[in-house]
Amino acid sequence: MASSETGTEAENSTMAMQECYENYIIVDIGANLTNKKYGRDLDSVIQRAKDAGVQKIMVTGASIRTSREALRLTRIYPGTLYSTAGIHPHDAKSWTDGYLDELREIALSPECVAIGECGLDYNRDFSPVDVQKEVFETQVRLACELGKPLLLHERDAHQDLLDILNKYKDRLPSIVIHCFTGTCEQAQNYLEMGMYLGMTGYLCKDKSDNGIRKILEDGLIPLDRLLVETDSPFMYPNTRASKLPAHVKEALTERSLTFLQRYCTFQRNEPCSLPAIVEMIAAFMKKPAEEVALATAFNALKVFGLSQ
Ligand SMILES: [Zn+2]
Repeated sequence: MASSETGTEAENSTMAMQECYENYIIVDIGANLTNKKYGRDLDSVIQRAKDAGVQKIMVTGASIRTSREALRLTRIYPGTLYSTAGIHPHDAKSWTDGYLDELREIALSPECVAIGECGLDYNRDFSPVDVQKEVFETQVRLACELGKPLLLHERDAHQDLLDILNKYKDRLPSIVIHCFTGTCEQAQNYLEMGMYLGMTGYLCKDKSDNGIRKILEDGLIPLDRLLVETDSPFMYPNTRASKLPAHVKEALTERSLTFLQRYCTFQRNEPCSLPAIVEMIAAFMKKPAEEVALATAFNALKVFGLSQ
């Protein structure tokens, strides 16, 4: 009896291990699940993510409305969803006096694990630069006050972003540049300041010879500073892009491609595309996908204090 029991135990633990090997454990640190594109089937979207190995998802807040809605979603999917609270630079012009108190109130909930996304975007300039800077700085101060990490959005505003952050140098919380799309030099500046970089399906679009592909190939980002995200419903990882190197396409497993091709489109990306993104990142870095999955999941738990 005793020996057969032990045998069963060993079998069970082997099965558990096999499950681990078959599936990744990953964390999507940025998905816009409050987007109306998920209004009809959010349950299925989250279930598919979990089936694909995406154990936890951070729902991005980009306005007062979406920050509140993101927090509401964390209560429906406790332990799976977490939220952020912030005003996106595109919306900086809508800032009014009451916003700071509202953001603080939302961010005081433990399920809200970061201030953001906030930052500067001079690429599309939907809000005047001066207003963007002021609204961003106010949110940096809030993050310092609450000791919550900052989830930052930056496009063509690298130096101004650094200048504002440097004013608070000695009391900044952990900082993540979400959906990093900059150059090698910019990545290095951010890393030197101790920041983390979030990578998305943008890597299928990158055509520069000094951008994120080069950064990954040259090993400029240490694994302990890397995070992964889908930015769903945006940033669909187009694994068919012609410029994607053959060895990267070949690194994609049937399993991750199945999730990607069956459920994700240019119109609506989903968190279940994250395994494909992890496999491509790993291929560029010439590392096993499992290693990138594990390291980025660990980083996410650590930076944002997500419960195990
Ligand atoms: Zn963004």
